[in-house]
Amino acid sequence: MKITDIKTYVLVADNADVSLTSSAQDTVLVIIETDEGITGYGETDTNPWVIKALIQSPGTHTMDQSMKDILIGKNPLNIDDCWNSLYVGTAMTGRRGAGVNAIGAIDMALWDIKGKFENKPIFELLGGNVHETITPYASLQPLGTSFEEYRDSLVEWAEKAKNLGFKAVKSEVTMNGPYSHNGMNEDDDKHTKVIEAVRKALGPDIELMVDVQYKWETAEQALRTVKDWEEFNIYFLETPVWTDNLDDYARMHDEAPMKIAAGEWLSTVHEFKDLIERGNVDVAQPDIGRVGGLTEAKKVSDIVDKNRRIIVPHCWKTSISISATAHFAFNTPSCKFIEYLPPQLCHETLRRELAIEGFDFTDGLIQLPTRSGLGIEINEDAVKRYRVD
Ligand SMILES: [Mg+2]
Repeated sequence: MKITDIKTYVLVADNADVSLTSSAQDTVLVIIETDEGITGYGETDTNPWVIKALIQSPGTHTMDQSMKDILIGKNPLNIDDCWNSLYVGTAMTGRRGAGVNAIGAIDMALWDIKGKFENKPIFELLGGNVHETITPYASLQPLGTSFEEYRDSLVEWAEKAKNLGFKAVKSEVTMNGPYSHNGMNEDDDKHTKVIEAVRKALGPDIELMVDVQYKWETAEQALRTVKDWEEFNIYFLETPVWTDNLDDYARMHDEAPMKIAAGEWLSTVHEFKDLIERGNVDVAQPDIGRVGGLTEAKKVSDIVDKNRRIIVPHCWKTSISISATAHFAFNTPSCKFIEYLPPQLCHETLRRELAIEGFDFTDGLIQLPTRSGLGIEINEDAVKRYRVD
């Protein structure tokens, strides 16, 4: 089999708002076509125009080749060969960040093709399932511009998630710092009050995670507040400090009363090696597209196992990424939860409309996928409606 074409569509929801902290309002849909009529789909969680440019640009020299030219004519079933050729052939521009994020979308589409060709779900190609079901956590983002509205909206989302059968919930609680929701500026005590209200609404039996989106500058500042959060029995605290402050992460690991999670933006196993071995984080959060696809995510899983840590993949995107994440989770022993943006509890149109997930979701649990490849069904009408480039 040979790759004959690679298409990159930029999709943006009609209600997208650049002032929101939500990357699920847009996507880049990567479509790989073959001479045997099998088509693979992938996406990645990065500025979609940047990814389109990275994939479609002509090359300029041997260290900066065209991704499209590298792929055309290659056998899509030789995924490692495609991955390495892309990584080495674009290393001067790529190697980390967006270059690797683009490879991630391509890798996802190649696994989709391989699954369709062999008539197997991707988790089987990865080595089979080590879990019977996967527990997704409902990822909740509050609305409102005052403390009271914010707290009440999170409590309402939490109660709805509980009623939908979710066994775990993550609240974004970010009312100050660089990604403060709606320009709010509330002190740390108010954050404690929001978490207290959400925990009360959930009751003791549902796992609660908290994401503060890099809101503190140092571990010293973070610890002053999070030491008081022990009583809320938080499963993990996500990104308390800036992603590159690995020494602060290590201190958080030593002194915070809950597990520390990070890694949503990282690309390649090399960045995760630093995060885990120097930053000492308890929970690694690779995003399957951004890290470099399923191929690279499995390498992160090896590092996590070696250091006896936990993986809880990041995923704030459409059903394409959610399905890839589920296949990864079924094959990954250290994976305790996956992030899941409930279509019933979000305003992100593409999450709800772009594709049908490649698995069934019942009783708060993701069931073992049975369809081949990613198992998704693309909604061609949604592609037409939201395509802008
Ligand atoms: Mg986050």
